[in-house]
Amino acid sequence: MHNIDLDEIRAHTDVPDPAIRLLSKPEKEIHFSLNLLLDPDGFVEADAFVVYHNTARGPAKGGLRIWPNVTLEHTRALAELMTWKTALVGLPFGGGKSGICLDSRQLARSSKTAVLKEYVHMIQGELMSGAYVPAPDLGSTPSDMAVIYGETHLAESVTGKPPRVGGLPGRREATGYGVAHVTHLACQTFLGKPVRGTRIAVQGFGNVGEWACRFLCGMGAKIVAVSDITGGTLRESGIDLDDLHRHVTETGGVEGYDGDAITNEELLALDVDILIPAAIEGVLDDRTAPAVSADLVVEAANGPTTAGGEAILSRRGIVVIPDVLANSGGVVASYMEWRQAKSGAMTKAEETHETVAEQLESAFQRVRQVAKERGVSERTAAQIVAVDEIVATMRDRGWIPS
Ligand code: NAD
Repeated sequence: MHNIDLDEIRAHTDVPDPAIRLLSKPEKEIHFSLNLLLDPDGFVEADAFVVYHNTARGPAKGGLRIWPNVTLEHTRALAELMTWKTALVGLPFGGGKSGICLDSRQLARSSKTAVLKEYVHMIQGELMSGAYVPAPDLGSTPSDMAVIYGETHLAESVTGKPPRVGGLPGRREATGYGVAHVTHLACQTFLGKPVRGTRIAVQGFGNVGEWACRFLCGMGAKIVAVSDITGGTLRESGIDLDDLHRHVTETGGVEGYDGDAITNEELLALDVDILIPAAIEGVLDDRTAPAVSADLVVEAANGPTTAGGEAILSRRGIVVIPDVLANSGGVVASYMEWRQAKSGAMTKAEETHETVAEQLESAFQRVRQVAKERGVSERTAAQIVAVDEIVATMRDRGWIPS
């Protein structure tokens, strides 16, 4: 499972054979087992993985996923995605990921803490040397990062910590902020108008979806539809986000909110200016893409468009801003937290937002230029930019011939 077809990229840019060999497989993989006898949860045995896909640009950066379907293959694919993301937005990080195959939602808080301490114990060399820097991902939280920090006593060994424990002000909303900023740039570029006054539908009202809605609303856009795992709502006059937040907190989901009830599939097909999938993978596929009526799709989730879905959207002239560009605000903020930890400096939330905007804008312009020059999609252009960056870095480091 690869995120990029390197042979396809080779048709557009020079990727020498040694680079193909290095980028086609992970640099390092660690497979270990977490074995604990816990009170009150009893015997726990979980497979765990750390993967470094490519560290030419710096430490392997990528979240810790604690989920029952974690596998080595999936951890590998996620590590690779981080290689492209960090390179595209110009960060001195490589791509990595770790995973624990466990349903930690079933564990007492004290048991999860014990699992995390054992995880640190098993990979202390990776964490203490700074070679791998985890962050929250599915099933892990800022508090879990604080536990990791409590074991390593090194603030830069982990990011996504709560602000009181060396975390970064502005980190929590950074991905949604980046999504909103990229949407603003894409709207101007592809639809030829400001985001103010546009009608937007968002799938997912979690961390990324809700913050993206809030920042877009602040820019004057109208969020007319939102959905989550429970269902969706459509309100032509615009959704009051505080009100929706209250409803979701009280009832556990968007379903039942005051507006026209819609399904997730209906949301994807709404006649809006911009569609933002901010929930799960693979929702825009061969079946749903023909019905999309938005002029622009901004991928806030990872991998919401399948290859088949993308081909259909492209044929229909609908521009897709790829995930590696749209949702990389979070990793930019992670870099700032790592830098803050190393320097001891304090960072304000406004500075976090400003840096996210700058890095994403510069990546957006580079991608646009390559897309225009080579006549390729924004996704292919983003992949070309990322691969070019890493190939140049590997040359700088003497990993491959100049
Ligand atoms: P989250 O758990 O906070 O929210 C997920 C949202 O998706 C929830 O509203 C949930 O109800 C909804 N959802 C789940 N299954 C659904 C379904 N079958 N149909 C419709 N809605 C469904 O997660 P998040 O952090 O907001 O992440 C959302 C996406 O963004 C994921 O793909 C994630 O990998 C990606 N992402 C997140 C970050 C980050 O910083 N949080 C960074 C980069 C990418």
